[in-house]
Amino acid sequence: MLAAQQKAAQKAAMASAMQAAPRVATGRSVVASRTMSMGGARPMNAPAVAQRAAVRRATRVLVSAIANGATAPVEKTSNPMNIVFVSAEVAPWSKTGGLGDVVGGLPIELAKRGHKVITIAPRYDQYSDCWDTSVVVNVDGESVRFFHAIKSGVHRVFIDHPWFLAKVWGKTGSKLYGNRSGSDYIDNHKRFTMFCKAAIESVRALPFGPGEDCVFVANDWHSALIPLIIKDVYQPRGQFKNAKVAYCIHNIAFQGRFWPESFKDMQLPQSTMSKLGFIDGYSKVFDEKNPLDDDEKPSDSWSGPFNKLNWMKAGILAADKVLTVSPNYASEIGSGPDKGVELDSIIRMAGGAEGIVNGMDVTEWNPKTDKYVPVKYDRNSVFEGKAAAKAALQAEAGLPVDPTAPLFGYIGRLEEQKGVDILLSALPKISNAQVIILGTGKAKYEQLVKSMATKNPNFKGVVKFSAPMAHQITAGADFILVPSRFEPCGLIQLHAMQYGTVPVVASTGGLVDTVKEGVTGFHMGAFDPDRLNPADADAVAATVSRAAQVFQTPKFREMVKNCISQDLSWAAPAKKWEAILEEVSRGCTAAPAKKASVPTPVQKQIPVRA
Ligand code: ADP
Repeated sequence: MLAAQQKAAQKAAMASAMQAAPRVATGRSVVASRTMSMGGARPMNAPAVAQRAAVRRATRVLVSAIANGATAPVEKTSNPMNIVFVSAEVAPWSKTGGLGDVVGGLPIELAKRGHKVITIAPRYDQYSDCWDTSVVVNVDGESVRFFHAIKSGVHRVFIDHPWFLAKVWGKTGSKLYGNRSGSDYIDNHKRFTMFCKAAIESVRALPFGPGEDCVFVANDWHSALIPLIIKDVYQPRGQFKNAKVAYCIHNIAFQGRFWPESFKDMQLPQSTMSKLGFIDGYSKVFDEKNPLDDDEKPSDSWSGPFNKLNWMKAGILAADKVLTVSPNYASEIGSGPDKGVELDSIIRMAGGAEGIVNGMDVTEWNPKTDKYVPVKYDRNSVFEGKAAAKAALQAEAGLPVDPTAPLFGYIGRLEEQKGVDILLSALPKISNAQVIILGTGKAKYEQLVKSMATKNPNFKGVVKFSAPMAHQITAGADFILVPSRFEPCGLIQLHAMQYGTVPVVASTGGLVDTVKEGVTGFHMGAFDPDRLNPADADAVAATVSRAAQVFQTPKFREMVKNCISQDLSWAAPAKKWEAILEEVSRGCTAAPAKKASVPTPVQKQIPVRA
């Protein structure tokens, strides 16, 4: 539903209720007063009956508006906070994956709830919608400037320095961190130390900044120094005394491990070494001079000890609160060294991480307005819309145009994390189904994906980064495959469900929290995190076969409806974020009840191995 239509539907609902019930002020109160009146002991009278009828009518309009893609009316906070997100990525200006999406979308929803929200990210390009604030600060001898935009109620601040702009020049993807995946720029420790220091200074230097009374949200290793510097540098000097820092882990596989020699460039007090110091068994740090080769994995056997710095470790230990992007991932990363990538004990020492499932961008991903969808659709027209999208996708991809063939799509990086090697091994065991893979990544997987069609005319591989194709597959496929070895939250399955496309997922991380077996998707079980296990390829093939048998049955139609009827927007996750940040910054006693009012999409998941 278009934003204007949402507003109109909500306005109609409210107007209808207000005619008969003038005391009812908002759409949300309409629903509440209905609930209260159902159990009430007041005597029946004519105006009360008319009022209830009007309220019921209004509620129906609202419920149907929400089912058609509108989100519930936003509750305003009575307790506004100054919230500062610091992140290496912010969509749509910069993005390599889920991190950019979170810092793009979540702040907008928090601002709608009445908070002052600022995001701070590097300026990687000449963003035409941002202006130079002319404010300059000196960070360890470097002059740093700040660019700014206000979009959807959020202050977007961009840190301007040649180490970002000249190095990246608007290129996105892994270029933000290195020339290619698995190889950091050699000066990344200097780039992101300067970034963190400048970000902290900006909140007091910028005229629209909140000053020192704020709650920071630092994200992943690139901004892990924010809690460390606030706690170990500023607060001992009596500055930022009331500031709090939440630290959110979007992917624990990338920790910011550097050789200890880099410490002198970071210009931090020696006391910070107690949190930064880390010992591992790997003789390498992967940078431009020592890139990670396609087939290389850090060896299983301990060959240390090697002294390193670990930025994520310091962030976890210094933060007031550790967060991550799904409850199941939160328990996984504290469970042991393989899932916690050797930071499990540090997470436990910090009291554990709390997980909040991500929302998704329901404006960019909306089958009712999507320019790549030939016949726009919503939950009421999902079968007609998807049939047209499927035929268009099959024609475009060169697959047989056959509505009766179950079509499985895969979109994502061609890397082991995403389980593409498991899927490719399963392909020879898959019959009576079409499979389309879209992705870029490791050369060896790109080669295999390109040659898929030569093995079977029902298979098609597309090796490119293509937003149009991603949208076409999300709408046109009957099923989306997500065979990840680990997945902190995952967006692909959320996008799929929003389009009535049924996800078939590995039982890991956020996939467990968002896909319910037999209701909104199919589970394949958890996969071997370290190697290609033939049993995992069998599980993929068997689950594809199980899903294909359900295809075109009444149960499949019900699953499609279940998927597309969910509210997957940021509205509910933002309420939970608000509760946690209130708890962190003010010790708010109402926070636990507010958190509990936002259930995780899948409360109790029993993974099924086919
Ligand atoms: P991650 O952040 O781990 O890469 P997510 O599932 O959180 O994985 O997000 C991946 C995002 O990147 C999605 O928005 C997806 O549509 C997009 N994407 C991945 N590969 C491609 C591709 N080849 N073409 C277009 N979009 C892609």
